[in-house]
Amino acid sequence: AASLAGAGGFSAVELPGDFVLMLVPLLGGLAASVLAERADYLDWKLLHLHAARAARDEMTGAANSLGLSQGYEAVSRQAQRGKVPLTVAIIDMDGLKPVNDSYGHAAGDEAIIHMTDALRHVARRPLDLIARIGGDEFVVVFYGTPPLQAQALLEQARQWLRRHPLPLDGENSVALGFSAGVCADRSGKPMELQEILERADTALYKAKSDGRSRSALAEVGSAPPLRRRRFISHR
Ligand code: GH3
Ligand code: MG
Repeated sequence: AASLAGAGGFSAVELPGDFVLMLVPLLGGLAASVLAERADYLDWKLLHLHAARAARDEMTGAANSLGLSQGYEAVSRQAQRGKVPLTVAIIDMDGLKPVNDSYGHAAGDEAIIHMTDALRHVARRPLDLIARIGGDEFVVVFYGTPPLQAQALLEQARQWLRRHPLPLDGENSVALGFSAGVCADRSGKPMELQEILERADTALYKAKSDGRSRSALAEVGSAPPLRRRRFISHR
């Protein structure tokens, strides 16, 4: 017989040896299942981290195209449910090439990060979405915001950039700016991200050709968008 000794060395309970032997596989199984559950949890956490990283633009911390299409789906469903408007803006920085040419590629990168900060100052609602979809191009989804209000917010981002020129080496700094095309979902009707971006892109083209540093509003009619570009590459 085995004994479980009390703290002071008192013999507390006498247990038959067979019973102790029976406990060994039981406790072993329990430990194994706790460890397996922990490993599953770590796998799940890694997978989750990996998915979150895959949806984010490394340089700016904003969403990338994958994060945009995933986020838009969720946010647009919520807007439908809550019967609130959604406005999407496609944004292209004005004159980034000259910044690269005059001050170097690293300064251009800083300019892109600074641009993201400007957008973060105006797209502040929990369901607002900021994505960098490539180069100096961004998409902002303004939740519960009609198009005129979204344009006013973009103007605030321009003002922020004017008040906060990007500091460069020495005493130099450069004022950044951007143009935008804005498109609202048709009230009550969900719109595919691809279509809303094509329409916003047509408006962006107009904003650029009208002289830059402005936003243009897409006309949402029955006509198809003029500029056909493939925005959604991942599903
Ligand atoms: P526009 O006013 O017409 O928008 O002209 P732009 O000079 O901004 O040039 P455009 O939008 O036609 O092209 C984007 C340029 O941004 C091309 C490239 O020189 C630069 N660029 C794109 N991606 C990056 C990047 O990751 N880092 C840096 N530093 N520059 C980039
Ligand atoms: Mg540009």
